[in-house]
Amino acid sequence: MRYISTRGEAPALGFEDVLLTGLATDGGLYVPESLPHFSLEEIRSWRGLPYAELAYKVMYPFVEDAIPADEFRKMLEETYSVFTHQAVAPLVQLDSNEWVMELFRGPTLAFKDFALQLLGRLLDYVLEKRNQHVVIMGATSGDTGSAAIEGCRRCKHVDIFILHPYQRVSEVQRRQMTTVQGDNIHNIAVKGNFDDCQRMVKESFGDQSFLGGKTQLAAVNSINWARIMAQIVYYFQASLSLGGPDRSMAFSVPTGNFGDIFAGYLAKKMGLPISQLVIATNRNDILHRFMSGNKYEQHQLEHTLSPSMDIMVSSNFERLLFDLHGRDGAAVKDLLERAAKGPVSIEDYRWKHARKLFDSDAVDDKATCETIREIFEQNEYLLDPHTAIGVRAARNCRRDNAVPMITLGTAHPAKFPDAIVESGLTVKPELPAHMADLFEREERYTVLENNLADVQGFLAKHWKNA
Ligand SMILES: *Cc1c(COP(=O)(O)O)cnc(C)c1O
Repeated sequence: MRYISTRGEAPALGFEDVLLTGLATDGGLYVPESLPHFSLEEIRSWRGLPYAELAYKVMYPFVEDAIPADEFRKMLEETYSVFTHQAVAPLVQLDSNEWVMELFRGPTLAFKDFALQLLGRLLDYVLEKRNQHVVIMGATSGDTGSAAIEGCRRCKHVDIFILHPYQRVSEVQRRQMTTVQGDNIHNIAVKGNFDDCQRMVKESFGDQSFLGGKTQLAAVNSINWARIMAQIVYYFQASLSLGGPDRSMAFSVPTGNFGDIFAGYLAKKMGLPISQLVIATNRNDILHRFMSGNKYEQHQLEHTLSPSMDIMVSSNFERLLFDLHGRDGAAVKDLLERAAKGPVSIEDYRWKHARKLFDSDAVDDKATCETIREIFEQNEYLLDPHTAIGVRAARNCRRDNAVPMITLGTAHPAKFPDAIVESGLTVKPELPAHMADLFEREERYTVLENNLADVQGFLAKHWKNA
């Protein structure tokens, strides 16, 4: 399998290089040159498979040039054995034909574990083979940092440095990062805000000379293709559990950077019968505004009760735009260069095609809280605010009650207790057993000034072989 850039100018790469690369050299994102396609008969034959085995069937075509089958199977078994539910991604029923797929049974209680647990193992495998080392550098306002640290903690060939804004992440989120032990794990609290952290990461990727040419930076955000790939699997899993592929499914997906829902779009293209995909956003609703009115326009960032979806632009949307433009990289490049300067639209027939592929809805904090309360009153089931947005959008956009509607449950409610309080409920969501002692664990992090030279100096000094 070869991978090509959405902006059409960077060289095509194989899986190993795509794994180790962030953005393509032309500024685009990598996508597979062609997708595998599975027949209904083949998909049907996967019914009842354990999650790791299903993951192998769905993903192997993407990695087969780089990893032998038995090695990949072993890696997947390890990856998904760390989840605390036997079904890995269990379904919970909300109403007669309505479900939540719980994607938060991994080590950090959010769906990002599905991809980042695998990414760590993939990186170590490829780096061992190549006798290479990388430094992961990332900025986080919450979930990505902890999932990346958990995913890379046992990697021999990776040092990981995560920047978070000092005193501006929740205590649960900070402790999930800073209590993980490992001499390759480095938490930096920057005396600045999230944008300062992100800017320093971006500048460091642009000029890596501070590492002295002895190692290179790697990315763990969802521009990394391997993350999208791992998220395709659970769409198949949910469908097979509810009578697919002999009946079609609808999915509602709480969306920030358009990674998770893009994986659903790919599952459909790979042959899984999906009749509806709902983009569910919070008040940061650039995608919903585009889907409603064919105008792609950045607004001011709003802080909401669903912080993991607080974004101004959705980076993975570029991957969809590439398909909407008949995979014409030059057209995508032109469009996104214009979009960086002001509002843009696409040709009407392309936009109409996008509207056939996706429905969308934007849900504000008030409606998020109402939904948390309503579902608790109906079912004694607690939703986290991100999942609540998905459920609300699913109900608003539903087209056919005979089609199972599955909302992706992206986080455990104990991660976001503020929203539960805000919704007027007096129940306290409990952290699961494996995290019950989170507040007693020892923390390790370094506070640095909001200054690029200090941060880069810290990295240069502390990566393993420095
Ligand atoms: C990251 C995240 C999202 C958004 O996912 P995207 O792939 O960026 O669309 C939604 N909910 C939670 C809890 C997350 O951590």
